[in-house]
Order: sequence, then structure tokens, then C-alpha cells
Amino acid sequence: MGEFDLIERFFWRPAGQGPRRAVVGNGDDCAIIAPAPGMHLAVSTDTLVEGRHFLSTVDPARLGHKALAVNLSDLAACGAKPLAFTLALTLPRVDEAWLAGFAQGLLALADAHDCELIGGDTTAGPLAIGITVMGEVPAGQTLLRSGARAGNDLWISGWPGLARLALEAFRGTLQPALTSDDFDTARRAMECPEPRVALGLALRGLASAAIDVSDGLLGDLGHLLRRSQVGATVVLDALPVHPVLAARPVSQQHDCLLAGGDDYELVFTAPPEHRARLLALGDSLGLPLTRLGAITATPGLQLLQGELDVWPDDAPPQPVSNRWTSFDHFKS
Ligand code: ADP
Ligand code: MG
Repeated sequence: MGEFDLIERFFWRPAGQGPRRAVVGNGDDCAIIAPAPGMHLAVSTDTLVEGRHFLSTVDPARLGHKALAVNLSDLAACGAKPLAFTLALTLPRVDEAWLAGFAQGLLALADAHDCELIGGDTTAGPLAIGITVMGEVPAGQTLLRSGARAGNDLWISGWPGLARLALEAFRGTLQPALTSDDFDTARRAMECPEPRVALGLALRGLASAAIDVSDGLLGDLGHLLRRSQVGATVVLDALPVHPVLAARPVSQQHDCLLAGGDDYELVFTAPPEHRARLLALGDSLGLPLTRLGAITATPGLQLLQGELDVWPDDAPPQPVSNRWTSFDHFKS
């Protein structure tokens, strides 16, 4: 099978199938998309490389899902609605069964978010998947990293930490071992993250700043704080602990929650007057939204142990030392 047969067979959709967002779609020299009046285009790229971002044994449908999910997660963090994406695929060989699975997982998630595959590039080489995603957001409503203000609440969506648990289990470094049900749950979180697109859209006008967590909660929160030129307190006892994680030793829970990576949850800030609306939003999305601290005028990150909301007579939360650093591809 040649390059063009491969593209046509696995990545071009017959008329009437899949979303149609492009004015000129896949198969010309450029795809042409027309942003609606008053909308800004949000663009983001993420690459997955075999051996670094995924294990060679991963199910191809899950890999297709994840390759797009990590990109949609960036749109979610900006409050942008997905429109279209391009796919740069580097393949060591043409494996039809693998390609069929990969395309199925990729396009199923694309259809679920009404996001059209409008073009790409296909070359031979070590397995890598590069996706560029485009979305739209009304001018002036983009959620940025730079909008956090002292006195804002700090929130996180969903259940961070499970992907790291699965990674450690795959590496054989996890003690004690996971039960097979818990392993499946953690593995699904690692291989099939759900991008929080609906949450990102709903946070327009509610959140003051947002970022998606790909390299660990504290590291990514640090990016948001630096951009906003503020600090934060994070109360360890307030972190959302999934039942699978709750069964683990406490220090392992903290490692996974604070520096796990591959979570694709949203960390965001919002004025305290939005608390009730945010909790109601979490209910309506079926996605827990957890308040875990506050933004401070003093720069830096302070970790605390104790209750998030203390009564006047209770002991205030106490500082604990921060032993977690975030993942960096170029640091050893
Ligand atoms: P060119 O050489 O003009 O850049 P290509 O030969 O690379 O074009 O690709 C031909 C057409 O197929 C283009 O419209 C391109 O966007 C599309 N395409 C190539 N690879 C992929 C892919 N992996 N997924 C979707 N579309 C692709
Ligand atoms: Mg061309």
C-alpha cells in the first residue's frame, strides 16, 4: 500500500461521514477554514513519540484517542471549542490492522467533539504522532494562564494521579501491587484520558485563569502562577483522592496527585463568589470540581496540611515542605 492509498483508506472520510468544518477539506494543498465573525482561532500542537510518551504495546485505538485527547485538552484549558485538526504521522511500516485501530480511536474522539481531520502529513520513520488542533473562542473570552488574582480560589477537575499509578505499575516499580481491577482503572486513565472540553467552555466568564495538567499538578500550577505573577497555597488534605488512589500509602498518593503527570485535568482559579455556581457546574457535568487552595499576592507555592476552611477556634493549616518537582524532557 502506497502513501496516498494509506491516507485515503484510513484518514479521509466519505461525504456525509464525520463533521465538516473546512471550506476546503482534506486532499488539497491546504485546508481552508473560515473562523466565524467575532471568533478568535486557538491553535495548539502536541507530539507523542513511541517509547517516550507511550509504550509500544499500547492498543492502537487507545493511542489514536490519546493523541487527539492531549491536544483537545489544550483547547479546553483556553475555553476554546474544537473545530479541526491536522495529523502528522510517522510510521516505521504500513501495518493495516494497527492503522485501522488507530484511525478508529482517533476519529471516534474527533466525532464526539465535532472536530474535523482537515489534513496532515504521512512519512516513514520511527513511530510518532504530531497533531495540531484548532478551536474557536469569542474574542476576549479566552482563558489564559495570566489571569489569576490574589484572593481567587484554586480548583482542580476530576481525579488526578491515576495515570502515574499505572505508569509505575507498568514499570514494575509499584509497591504494593495493584489489584487487577484497580490496574484496569488506572490504565484507562493513562491510556484514554477524557479532555475536559465541556468544562473549559463552561468556565468562560467564571474562571480567571486555567491550565491543563500534563506534567504534574504542582509543576503546571507553577506555570500559571508565574504568568499571573502571584503565589498560591495548596492544602494537601483537600486534594481529590480517587478510591483506587485512596487504597495506596499516603506518600504515594501525594507523589501521584502532586507530581504525577498525564492527568489532563484542568487547574483553574475563580473569585470566591463563584463557588456555588462551580459546584453546580461540576454536578451538571458529572465531573467533580474540587477547591484545593487559594491564590496569594506573595509569589511562590506553599503546601499546607490541615483543613481548607478552618473555624476561628480551630488550628490553622500548617506548612509542609515541598519535595515534588515537575517532569522536564530535557532535565535528567
Ligand atoms: P503535499 O505534498 O502537497 O504537502 P501530501 O502529499 O503530503 O501533500 O498530502 C496530500 C493530502 O493528504 C493533503 O491534503 C494532506 O493534508 C493530506 N494528508 C496527508 N497525510 C495525512 C494524514 N496522515 N491524515 C490526514 N490527511 C493527510
Ligand atoms: Mg502541497
